[in-house]
Amino acid sequence: MQLYTKILIGLVAGAVVGAAANLSGIEPFQNFLGALEPLGTAFINLITMIVVPLVVASLLVGTASLGDLRKLGRIGGKTLLFYMCTTAVAVSIGLGLSNIVKPGAGVAETTRNELAARYGGDAAARMDLAANAPSWVETLMSVIPRNPIQAAANMELLPLIFFTICFGAALTVIQADRRDAVLKFFEGVNETSMVLINWIMELAPYAVFVLIASVVGNFGFDLLQSLAVYTLVVVSGLLLHAFGTYALVLRFLAGLNPARFYKRIAAVPLLAFSTSSSNATLPLTIETAEEKLGVSNEVASFVLPLGATINMDGTALYQAVAVMFIAQIYGIPLDLADQMIIVMTATLASIGAAGVPSAGIITLIIVLNSVGLQGQVQAGIALILGVDRILDMLRTSVNVTGDLSCAAFVARTEGETLLPDVVPEPIPISAAD
Ligand code: ASP
Repeated sequence: MQLYTKILIGLVAGAVVGAAANLSGIEPFQNFLGALEPLGTAFINLITMIVVPLVVASLLVGTASLGDLRKLGRIGGKTLLFYMCTTAVAVSIGLGLSNIVKPGAGVAETTRNELAARYGGDAAARMDLAANAPSWVETLMSVIPRNPIQAAANMELLPLIFFTICFGAALTVIQADRRDAVLKFFEGVNETSMVLINWIMELAPYAVFVLIASVVGNFGFDLLQSLAVYTLVVVSGLLLHAFGTYALVLRFLAGLNPARFYKRIAAVPLLAFSTSSSNATLPLTIETAEEKLGVSNEVASFVLPLGATINMDGTALYQAVAVMFIAQIYGIPLDLADQMIIVMTATLASIGAAGVPSAGIITLIIVLNSVGLQGQVQAGIALILGVDRILDMLRTSVNVTGDLSCAAFVARTEGETLLPDVVPEPIPISAAD
C-alpha cells in the first residue's frame, strides 16, 4: 500500500473517532483521546529532529555540486520570483472571493459578541506575541547568523540556510582532495537522514490518527456553523489555488501532468494537514521531491528549505480573507487601494511567518494594521480563532504543495528530466496527424 493511502486511512479514521467523541459528549472517551495526544507530539518531534541535519547536509552537498555560482544565482532568482508571484496570486484569489461572497456581511451581532467574549483572552495572548515579533529590518539582519550553531540549535532555518550556502560556495574553491573529504561526510549524513525519515514515516499513519482524533475531539462544531461562510470562502480559495493556479503553472510553465504530480506528492500535503507545520513536513517534502518526482538534490535542497520558511501561499490567501471578513463584520469598507496594500503586506507577512502551527494568525496582525484596522485587531482575532486550527491544517497543505510545485518548475527549467509518470506522455504520431 502507498504511504499516502496509509496516511489517508489514519486521517479519516482519526476524524471519525474524534467526531464520535466530540458529538457523543462522552467524557472518558474525550479524555482518552486527549491522553493520546503526546504520542502525536512525539511523532512531530521525531520528524522535526531530522530537519537540521538534513537541511545542512543536503543543502551543502547541493550547493557544492552546483559547481558554479552563476547557476546558484539563477536558481535563486527563479525560486524567489516563483514564490512571490504565486503568493500574490493566492492573495488575489482570497480578495476576489471575499468581494464576491462577502462572508462577514451575514454574521449576526449576537454571534459576533459571543465569539469575541469566548476567545478574547486567547486573542490578547496572540497580540502579545505579535508585539514581540521583530521588525522588518531586524528580520532582514537576522538572516546573517552570528553563530550558525546557535541558529541550528534554535531551528532558525533562514540563517542556517544562508550560512550553509556560503559554506557550500566556498567549498567549491578549495583543493579537490579536501573538498571531497568534506563532501563525502555530508553525503553520508544526507543518505542516513533519508533512511531515518523512511523509518519514522512507518509510524505516520498511527500518528496521524492520534493527531486528527484529538483535534477533532476538541473541536467546537458549533463554531463551524456561525463561521461557516468564512470557513467556506477560505477553503474554496485554498482549493482553487491548489488545483487551479498550481495546475496551470505545472502544465504550462513546467510541462508536467498535474494529476500525476498530485498523486505522486499526496503524502506531503496529508502530513502537512496533520501536523500544521511546513517545517515538520520538510524532511518528507525533500524526500518526495527527490524520490517521487525525480528532482535533483541541487534543486530540491535549495528550493524546499527556503520554501518551508518563506513561501506560504495558503497562509497569505487565508490572511486576505480574514482581513476582509473582519472589516466586513465591522462595516469598515476597504477600497481598491486598501486591497492593493493587502496584496503587498499579506505576501510579506507570509514570508515572515515561520513554518510552525498558528504562525499565520500572528502575522495576520501586521496585515490588519496595514489597512487601519488596529482597533479591530483583538476582537477580530477572537472572532476567527475558534476555526483557526482547522484552517491552519488546510493552509499548511497548500503551503507545501506550493513548495513542491516550485521545485518541479525550477527543475524542469534547469533542463532536468523528471520521473516519466509526472511528465505528459508524448502525443502518438497518428493522433497528432
Ligand atoms: N502552519 C503554517 C505552516 O507551517 C503557517 C501558518 O499559516 O500558520 O506552513
